[in-house]
Formats: sequence, structure tokens, C-alpha cells
Amino acid sequence: MILIKHILIIEDEVKIARFLELELQHEGYEVSVSHDGREGLTLALAHSYDLVILDVMLPSLNGMEVLRRIRQVSDLPVIMLTAKDDVMDKVMGLDLGAQDYLTKPFAIEELLARIRVLFKLKTASLSTKQPNTLSCGKLTLYPDKFEVNYNGTPIILTKKEFELLEYLMKNKNIVLTRNQILENVWGYNYIGDTNIVDVYIRYLRNKIDQPFEQKLIFTIRGIGYQIKAD
Ligand code: CA
Repeated sequence: MILIKHILIIEDEVKIARFLELELQHEGYEVSVSHDGREGLTLALAHSYDLVILDVMLPSLNGMEVLRRIRQVSDLPVIMLTAKDDVMDKVMGLDLGAQDYLTKPFAIEELLARIRVLFKLKTASLSTKQPNTLSCGKLTLYPDKFEVNYNGTPIILTKKEFELLEYLMKNKNIVLTRNQILENVWGYNYIGDTNIVDVYIRYLRNKIDQPFEQKLIFTIRGIGYQIKAD
């Protein structure tokens, strides 16, 4: 049985929204459209969409806020559309739990390719059985429960921080290059600043190494990163 994927577009520029709607329908997706942030959020929470394509600049409620509120209750995949080529915007969107982003103007083929990858990844991650716990020293991560603790003290991570830590811990004691990390955590189709890895390693250190006065995450100069415990 083939399930038709249902995509919600939240974009106030009517022409762009209409164009996306037609292109996605042409690809065989079922599509809903909202031109308003608040209305889009209501729709996103009320229906079981497979993906939301979310513009950042929206009337009544901006895209970051829509994303933040979706993430409070749902893992629904979100691709952000940003007009500004602003690294902070991208980092913030990813930090809030967006799966991907595109800077306007973008080629429709690029969006379609990223959607295909995202749906493929999602299916793959559902079918891969994960171990119940990963550990490194006193750090324990529960992939199924989305929980991490250090010696019993819970650590609050964003989705992307969690995915990065999970990848590092799965490869405990192994040196990972930035590219390996990018491809495995952000996906092969990630097109953006490779500094994103360093930024997120810093976030993790601030939440794991620093508060517990430990060093688990090591920089291997000129190569990448490694997690290990004594
Ligand atoms: Ca807009």
C-alpha cells in the first residue's frame, strides 16, 4: 500500500504558496495551504501532516514562533523557508528543531529533492531498531525516550543536539570527521555552513562537559571530534 504524504504549506506570499502547491501536487503529494502564521499553526496541530513547509516572515505569528509551538507538542518534520541569508536565522531554526531550511529564492527541484530525502530518512529511522541505551562514562542516553542524564541528573537538549550526541555516542572512542558528522546528523543534502558542527559541539559542551566539570567531547585538531570517557 502506498500512503500519500500530506504536506502543509504556511507561506503568506500567495504566488509562491500557489506555485509550491501546484508543484507538490504534481509530485503526488496531498497539499494544504495557509497564508497566516496563527492559522497555519492551528492547522498543523489539528491534522496529521507528514511535513510542514514554513516561511519565517509571516503575518500574525512569525515562522520561528510557529515552529517553537509545534515543537512543544510534536515531532512533525518542518522545512523552513527564509528570505534572509542569515546564519543566525538558520541556526535558530535548526536549534528549534527544523529538519532543514532553504533560502529564498530557491530552485523547486532542490526543495523536492530535500523532501524526498526527508521522507526516506524518516522511513529508514522508523525501521531501524535502536539499542535502548548508550553510555559514555557517567553519561547515559536513551534513544527511544529522547532522554540524557549525567550520573542521574537529566540534561535538556534540543532535537539536533540530541541527534548529534547520539551519533557521537554510537561511535564512542572513534574520531569522527566534520563531514561524517554533517552527513549523518544533518543529512547528505545539507547545504550550508560546515561550521554548524562546531557550533553544536559548543552547545553540547556547554550542557555536558562544563556543568559537570568533565571532559567527554574531544577536539581532534584538523580532523574532527570524538567522545570518550577515561
Ligand atoms: Ca513571507
